[in-house]
Amino acid sequence: MIRKTKPEFIAPYLRDASNFSGGNAEEVIIPESSDELVVFLKNETRPVTIAGAGTGLTASRIPSEGVIVSLERLNKIAYEEEGRIQVGPAVTLNELQAFLVSTNWFYPPNPTETWASLGGTLATNASGSRSYKYGVTRNYVEEVELVLVDGRKTILKRGLKINELLKFEDGSQISFPEISYQSPECKNAAGYFVHHEMDWLDLFIGSDGTLGVFTNIVLRLLPCPEDFVSGVLFFEDEHSCWELIPKIKSFKGQKIAPCSLEYFDHNALEKLKSKHQNIPHHSRAALFFEQDVAQLNDYDLVMEDWYVFLNEENIMLDDSWFAQGAKDIQKFHDFRHDIPIIINEENSRAGRVKLGTDMAVPDCHFMAMMKFYQKTLGKNGLDYVMFGHLGDNHLHINLLPNTSQREYAQQVYDLIADQILKWQGTVSAEHGIGKLKKKYFAKMVGPEGLSDLKKIKDCLDPDNRLGAGNIL
Ligand SMILES: Cc1cc2nc3c(=O)[nH]c(=O)nc-3n(C[C@H](O)[C@H](O)[C@H](O)COP(=O)(O)OP(=O)(O)OC[C@H]3O[C@@H](n4cnc5c(N)ncnc54)[C@H](O)[C@@H]3O)c2cc1C
Repeated sequence: MIRKTKPEFIAPYLRDASNFSGGNAEEVIIPESSDELVVFLKNETRPVTIAGAGTGLTASRIPSEGVIVSLERLNKIAYEEEGRIQVGPAVTLNELQAFLVSTNWFYPPNPTETWASLGGTLATNASGSRSYKYGVTRNYVEEVELVLVDGRKTILKRGLKINELLKFEDGSQISFPEISYQSPECKNAAGYFVHHEMDWLDLFIGSDGTLGVFTNIVLRLLPCPEDFVSGVLFFEDEHSCWELIPKIKSFKGQKIAPCSLEYFDHNALEKLKSKHQNIPHHSRAALFFEQDVAQLNDYDLVMEDWYVFLNEENIMLDDSWFAQGAKDIQKFHDFRHDIPIIINEENSRAGRVKLGTDMAVPDCHFMAMMKFYQKTLGKNGLDYVMFGHLGDNHLHINLLPNTSQREYAQQVYDLIADQILKWQGTVSAEHGIGKLKKKYFAKMVGPEGLSDLKKIKDCLDPDNRLGAGNIL
């Protein structure tokens, strides 16, 4: 086991992709195996925070005290059987995708940041552009090796229901507390997942590194689609783009059945023009869509269905882009990935701090949400960019205040959060709560909800030592 105690070696672990500063830790521990981790944890009493790849956006891997455990040495990939793969928690999405290229299998969750570790994506229940059809990371986890902060270890398999006992290798067992809290029905990554029919596995996934440590993971794979019909549609006005979404959803998985529906507002397109000069000048909005095609034979039919549908709509069809092969599909994904990257680079250069939303609402409030954003944003010269998962009613609004506008930007953020909560939405649909969104989470679930969630934490980590400061 490696132990790093020099401040300069600890410093890189006190950062993630949020702008959070002020973390602190006594040392970084790097175990060679889960058994080594178990021995370490059994003899440890300090707060423990798990480090993944550090791409998180909520400072959830940055402790204020205690010890950081980095699982970077647990980085092996092994095929289990057809459709199942075993990965160490430090394996990155990039590494997994590269491994799968030579197979006929496909791992659907595709968070934009492919340097994320799989352990991190489980802890945050990461999702991405294809989650519109395929759902979140939780849906693809079959089994994990899990270690509690007191060193107790178990193999947790799908199918172990929350009303059954959770048993550990040392013979001890835990039962789920009596609580009334239930997670919201829309896409949600805020707080613990609680649903009366869930498995124990579902609880640990998305728990922001606060309930247990994933030391080995078995993922479910799907047969690889043979191709994707994919395009970037441009619109002369935003409304035409928004109106397309309920129409697409009304097909209910028939001919038009996309897996991705990703939005770019006017400001996002303006920023993207620095890297993509071919964006049509007069476009005000864009939609990146993808539909997976199981068999190549069906490609032309699916393409034809999209053309027939889009021809009837208010789209700049001649200026829109349609993929002609795998290279174009990758280009469109890069186009989507470029927007947060460009904003982050600009912010670093300008020394500007962004306020980023990650909120979602149930389907029935989609159009009201879009109109509310339009009415609320862009006032008083506050720069902003809006992009993200339109199909999930889940947009990322990046408020980009100059120094004198920070307070105002915070007020705008609060106003948005209040309205989203009135619609029974969530303050985090993707990135989790971590240390940065606790105020909003408390508003979202109320004192009773918080007290229920604390009961869950208490039965797994009564001294609040794992991922302390996150969520609660
Ligand atoms: C440009 C950009 C784009 C992004 N796009 C998306 C997106 O599309 N979708 C999305 O969901 N997220 C996105 N993110 C956020 C981020 O990539 C995800 O939250 C990711 O899952 C974090 O993984 P990580 O390995 O970097 O974890 P870290 O940031 O290191 O840690 C995140 C949390 O996971 C915990 N953790 C890590 N490993 C383990 C483990 N083995 N066991 C228990 N807990 C653990 C940590 O303690 C911490 O609480 C984006 C980030 C950036 C910078």
